[in-house]
Amino acid sequence: MKTFSSPAIVLRRIDYGDYDLILTLFTMERGKIAAIAKSAKKSTKRFGGILEIFSVLDVVCSSGRGGNLVILQEADLINCLADIRTDFNKTAYASYWSEIVNVWAENDAKQERLYRLLYYVLEQIDSGHVSAEILSILFQMRFASIAGICPNLVRCSMCQLAVDSIREEHISFDFQKGGVVCRKCTGNSGNRLSLSKGTIKQLLWVDSGDLKKAGKIRFTSLALEGGLNFLEAFVTYNLGKEMQSLKILRQIRKK
Ligand SMILES: [Zn+2]
Repeated sequence: MKTFSSPAIVLRRIDYGDYDLILTLFTMERGKIAAIAKSAKKSTKRFGGILEIFSVLDVVCSSGRGGNLVILQEADLINCLADIRTDFNKTAYASYWSEIVNVWAENDAKQERLYRLLYYVLEQIDSGHVSAEILSILFQMRFASIAGICPNLVRCSMCQLAVDSIREEHISFDFQKGGVVCRKCTGNSGNRLSLSKGTIKQLLWVDSGDLKKAGKIRFTSLALEGGLNFLEAFVTYNLGKEMQSLKILRQIRKK
């Protein structure tokens, strides 16, 4: 048996039989892992009731020879982020970010930058210092760059004309090409969405500089809406999966 310890965020928890829980953990040291927490349901003493979704823990796990079944041996609470679970809107955004990580991350592959990014947005949405919408733009832009799918918002993906030199106020974004396309190069085909120059500018600001500064950028409500619509479509297109949490998030936002 090998043991390892790491900070970890609980992405999912499901009941397993009458006594146990299976947790999907996003760990700093080993990326995404599935771990069984034996007797976690039977006895609250065993883990002290801290194995909640979005909780940040210090975990000690052991894995057998095949490495398939990871057993959670110990868990200490680093940050319970309890406000996320008591606020509908916060739960919806946190679930969406967690699902993105869960869908994209491979098992047992360290992703320290993504771990820090997810921890940052969860901590911020819990505290309520930055709006959920801005955090979601920040998370998705930074996720795209970590995942190597960064959208090209700087120049036309075909003729390389700089966005600043494009005269129209609204520019097409071509999902297949992963970037903006000027009007001259835009054919009739393709999966596209229109972005305003104002939205593009704000998305690029969010993508530069450190996380704390990026979280303080003020968006106009139009740029916020345009940015969220675009990034949610962009991430969905690139992950190749309709996420359940995104459907719920959009329903909540309509209300
Ligand atoms: Zn062009």
